[in-house]
Amino acid sequence: MDRRTGGNRDANGGLAEATASRLRFDSDGEAAEGEESHMEVEEIPDAEGDEAAAEVIGDDKTSADYYFDSYSHFGIHEEMLKDVVRTKSYQNVITQNSFLFKDKIVLDVGAGTGILSLFCAKAGAKHVYAIECSQMADMAKEIVKANGYADVITVIKGKVEEIELPVPKVDVIISEWMGYFLLFENMLNTVLYARDKWLADDGVVLPDKASLHLTAIEDAEYKEDKIEFWNNVYGFDMSCIKKQAMMEPLVDTVDANQIVTNCQLLKTMDISKMTPGDASFTVPFKLVAERNDYIHALVAYFNVSFSKCHKLMGFSTGPRSKATHWKQTVLYLEDVLTICEGETLSGSMTVTPNKKNPRDIDIKLKYSLNGHRCQVSRTQYYKMR
Ligand code: SAH
Repeated sequence: MDRRTGGNRDANGGLAEATASRLRFDSDGEAAEGEESHMEVEEIPDAEGDEAAAEVIGDDKTSADYYFDSYSHFGIHEEMLKDVVRTKSYQNVITQNSFLFKDKIVLDVGAGTGILSLFCAKAGAKHVYAIECSQMADMAKEIVKANGYADVITVIKGKVEEIELPVPKVDVIISEWMGYFLLFENMLNTVLYARDKWLADDGVVLPDKASLHLTAIEDAEYKEDKIEFWNNVYGFDMSCIKKQAMMEPLVDTVDANQIVTNCQLLKTMDISKMTPGDASFTVPFKLVAERNDYIHALVAYFNVSFSKCHKLMGFSTGPRSKATHWKQTVLYLEDVLTICEGETLSGSMTVTPNKKNPRDIDIKLKYSLNGHRCQVSRTQYYKMR
């Protein structure tokens, strides 16, 4: 699952291309500037044309509709499907472990285009219920039919929390619910809701493990570009925006050679057992410098795994792994830390869903370094939105 457009530190092969489809609501200054002079006046379609177009697209949504319901647009699904780390991992899990699916009742939570349901049906599932709340559900129905699985896959359009399932229990729940920083968008709660309501006692949730990790990076150049930029904008002082920029974690890819410390496991979640409350936590960390360097930011990323497979399977969204559309989450520090090899940056991270909007995440970061060159102790607040 996917959320929003991050920065573009580096072009990331196919991913960068796919990301473009999600830029439709971003004001893309460069394109606008370049294209202004030779912009063609669009012909205003007559009512008949409108209707014909609506028929082809399958609905009559406007950009405003999509803004509030981005999963209805194919662009976001294109990006997810083209994330081969993500989609291939699910495909491998399903096709290489057909014992988990053969003759089983499967529930696909947030089916999107229906891709996971199709993998499960192909692996021999007895029946798959594919629940999807966005308009993409209509496409999923067509896709299921076009591929000859209409007897095996039932697409149900609606919210998991509101629909009725034709069966009392399912053997398998599969879902791709992960957001930026693992928890952004809070779809995990939907999976837990489905688990508690429909999963049979001996049923399995896939994936069943997710973990959040932390490391520290040198990032002078990009911090300059994203944060210090506001000090002088075409000669004007816009530094009041800096505070806001600092508070917003940046979703972006980090180069492995920027990593200054070890990578630490912050939190493991067992999706088969956890409660929604377990997604709020405070955890300590100790990051030990592996070389003499500066630290400009902490970087969080997640791993997911499927422990019920024949052998452990899963993937990492960390900076040392192949890039995914989740990239990493960069939290800039107020201070530039000068750290020497062997010194420890210690602290704690508190993660809680925002009280007003539970899809947003509040992060509190406490850190201190008592080093040779640098002594700092500070608390910073971030908000993912
Ligand atoms: N399974 C697909 C899509 C993953 S994205 C794939 O792997 O490609 C997550 C999907 O879950 C989105 O399409 C979103 O619309 C849907 N979704 C999110 N919350 C939901 C809810 N409460 N009920 C039903 N669908 C939901």
